[in-house]
Amino acid sequence: MFKAIRIVQPNQINLVNLKLLRLQADEVLIKVMASGICGTDIHILRGDYIAKYPIIPGHEFSGTIEKIGESVTRFKIGDNVAVEPNISCDNCYNCLNNRQNFCKNWQAIGVTKSGGMAQFVVVPEKSVFNIDKLQFEYAAFMEPLSCVLYGLMKVNINPGDSVVVFGAGPIGILFLQMAQLQGAVHVSVLENLASRAALAEQYGANQIVRNINDFEKDDFDLVIDATGVISLMEQTIDLVRTGGAVLLFGVPPAGKKLKLEGMKIFQKGLTIVSSFTSVRNSYQAIALLEAGKIDVSGLISHRLPLSEFERGIKLIEKGDDDVKKVMILPQH
Ligand SMILES: [Zn+2]
Ligand SMILES: [Zn+2]
Repeated sequence: MFKAIRIVQPNQINLVNLKLLRLQADEVLIKVMASGICGTDIHILRGDYIAKYPIIPGHEFSGTIEKIGESVTRFKIGDNVAVEPNISCDNCYNCLNNRQNFCKNWQAIGVTKSGGMAQFVVVPEKSVFNIDKLQFEYAAFMEPLSCVLYGLMKVNINPGDSVVVFGAGPIGILFLQMAQLQGAVHVSVLENLASRAALAEQYGANQIVRNINDFEKDDFDLVIDATGVISLMEQTIDLVRTGGAVLLFGVPPAGKKLKLEGMKIFQKGLTIVSSFTSVRNSYQAIALLEAGKIDVSGLISHRLPLSEFERGIKLIEKGDDDVKKVMILPQH
C-alpha cells in the first residue's frame, strides 16, 4: 500500500491508500522523493484545466527506481531519476512533424495519468531520465526548466543583449539565469513582491523594477512575460527595441483578449512568440542543473509532507510574499 493525493473532482482532495499496480513490460515503478507543486496543479484542482478525474496530480518530480518491467533497458533498481510528464504517441501528424507537444493522443503524467503527488508512481520507461547525483529537490525542476529552455529556443539571445523578465517567481528566475548564461549583459526584472525582488537581486538581476512604467521604452532586445497578466503582456511591445522579440510564456486567463497596436508591431519589426510546454528538453535541463549552471537552491520556500498538499496549494494561491516553489516530500 502507498499514500497518494487524489483529486476526486474539482475542489475535492483526498489522501488515499492505494495498492501498488502491476508493471507493464515497458514501465518502471518510482519511489517519489520530491514533487513540486505547479500552477497547473492548482488549475487541475480548481477544475479549469484538461484533466481526467479522479487524478493523482504532480508532474514535476524525481525519485528512485524501485522496480522495472521486463523490457526496460535504460534503468536498474536504485537509479535516481526525474520524469518528463508529457507522453506523445510518436505516430500522429504532429508527433511525426517534431511537434510532440501538440500530440493528438497526448497524455501527461499528473494530468491524464497518475502523477507524482504520491509515495509511488508507475510511468513508462521513455518518460524517465537518469539524474545521477543531482539532488532530488533540484531534479524536480527538470520539467519547468525544460519548458523555459524550449521557449528560449524559439527566440535568440545574442551576446551583449538586454533582456527583461516580467515576474520573479521560480520560472522568472530560471529565465533570468538562462538569459545571463546565453550572454545577455543586462537583465532587468519586473516584480512587485519584495521577497521575489530580493531573490532576483540575489540571482544577479541588473535592475529590479516594481512598476512597469518605470522602465525606459524601446530598451530591450528581448521581453519575456512570465506572469500571464494581460495588462503586462500588452505592454511588452512598448519595451522591446525595434527588431527585437517578445516571448509570451506566462499562462493568461482563458477567454481574455490582448490589445496590441498592429502598427507598432509592424513599424518595430517585432517577433512575437509563444511557447507551449517543451519538446525533448529534459537532457538539456538535467545537464544545466548538474553542472550548477542553473541554480535552483534559492527557489524552494516550503517543504511539506503529502498530507499538507492542500495547504501547499493554498500558500501559492494566497501569493504571500515569501512563497516560492512548494516542494512535497512524499516519503516524510
Ligand atoms: Zn508544471
Ligand atoms: Zn502523437
